[in-house]
Amino acid sequence: MGQRVVIVGAGFGGQHAYHELAKAGYDVTLVDRHPYTTFQPLLYQVATGGLNPGDIAFPLRRFVSRSKGRTKFRRATVTGIDAENKRVLTNRGAPIEYDTLVLAQGAGPNFFNIPGAHENARTIYSRAEALQVRDLLFSGLEQMTTEPNHGQHFTVLVVGGGATGVEMAGTLAEMKSEAIPVVYPELSQDSLRVILAEMADTLLAPFEPRLQRYTLHELRKRGVDVRLGTAVKEVRPDSVDLSDGSTLGVDLVIWASGVGAHPEVSEWGVPQGKGGRIEVEPDLRVKGHRDMWAIGDCAVEPDSPLPQLAQPAMQMGTHVGKQIIAADRGEETTPFAYDDKGTMATIGRNAAVVQFPNGRTVTGFAAWALWVGVHLATLLGGRNRLQAMVNTAFRYFAWPQSATNIVGDAVAEDDSAVDPDSGRPRQPHQAE
Ligand SMILES: Cc1cc2nc3c(=O)[nH]c(=O)nc-3n(C[C@H](O)[C@H](O)[C@H](O)COP(=O)(O)OP(=O)(O)OC[C@H]3O[C@@H](n4cnc5c(N)ncnc54)[C@H](O)[C@@H]3O)c2cc1C
Repeated sequence: MGQRVVIVGAGFGGQHAYHELAKAGYDVTLVDRHPYTTFQPLLYQVATGGLNPGDIAFPLRRFVSRSKGRTKFRRATVTGIDAENKRVLTNRGAPIEYDTLVLAQGAGPNFFNIPGAHENARTIYSRAEALQVRDLLFSGLEQMTTEPNHGQHFTVLVVGGGATGVEMAGTLAEMKSEAIPVVYPELSQDSLRVILAEMADTLLAPFEPRLQRYTLHELRKRGVDVRLGTAVKEVRPDSVDLSDGSTLGVDLVIWASGVGAHPEVSEWGVPQGKGGRIEVEPDLRVKGHRDMWAIGDCAVEPDSPLPQLAQPAMQMGTHVGKQIIAADRGEETTPFAYDDKGTMATIGRNAAVVQFPNGRTVTGFAAWALWVGVHLATLLGGRNRLQAMVNTAFRYFAWPQSATNIVGDAVAEDDSAVDPDSGRPRQPHQAE
């Protein structure tokens, strides 16, 4: 137990590894580039004004202060690993020495080298990015109310028909069909156009066909223009080229397609496989490194790749914590076995899909209630949970009037998210 463990990244995986090791009295340093941890599955709620950013973020110093013993938090971005001298290099302060290193830095978007996507599309991986999307959206709607009779549209293109794309498009569609007529009476319902482009012939690829059909039906019923078998070929500030040869005028492109490793990981001297994920042994040790482990979205066991979701990350975190303790005691480590508890995605109010490993599926209100329950229960911090519950309940019961309850200063005061000359969203900023 004399050893120092450094955990890079305090997301789902990092937190679970931390818990195991802190409980056992280890000297643990949790490193994250943000001073808070973000609950990514609810970011799209922040992007559409349903939740406040603080509802889904939890301060990491408070997280660490809950455990007694020799643990600490260091806010820094890890820039490299000096494996020979067992040190982690960071963008601020001295290198951090370790005996055991746990890599849990998650993943980011994958633009698949599509021209202009990185420069012109928005992503919702962080709190800051979700807020930018929110402000652009509401700024765009406000902007249109100043010239309501000009037949303008605000067109949002969501790229990718996985769970994130479906959730984002579904919520935007509700704003279009239910909120706009009430909250923006100057605008016609069609002022907000929501298009979802998916290159495959189906939405929600890992789900049962019945759930895929249900999702497609619900989205179309809610007014989303779903285009299956349609890939994005190029993204420009105000238009995109699609694989059917057409060009689409757009005000906001939300990139919800593909997950890739953070680019800096390629400099860390660790073996990377498909999608840049770090290759691990069955026990989750990094291949070729006895004292390094990798978990969550950033890791892959090449023979049994797992989906990049919260459950695998949490379970891997707990497993690695236990393996480090076992190895320290001179015991054999054991391979990681994923316990699939089911998968879910929400489409909008009263509509979601849930698929259990035994093949059972649930749709509609029951699935939606399950989705809300699981997500609120998983949030860190009692106050966050309460705030998120109040905001979710308010949104549910006071909808559509509550649709724009929580908006950014950019809308209310200076429209800074919008270019005053063109009235169009400004170019994406560098994410936090
Ligand atoms: C919009 C969205 C919606 C999602 N919805 C769902 C859902 O409904 N259900 C589900 O199961 N999954 C969902 N996911 C996926 C889920 O959030 C991830 O699978 C999960 O967060 C992975 O956990 P992790 O611990 O590997 O990484 P993360 O939770 O991403 O944590 C990584 C941490 O590392 C930090 N970090 C990154 N790089 C560095 C660095 N160089 N130095 C220091 N710190 C660093 C980050 O700040 C972050 O705190 C969603 C993801 C997104 C983006």
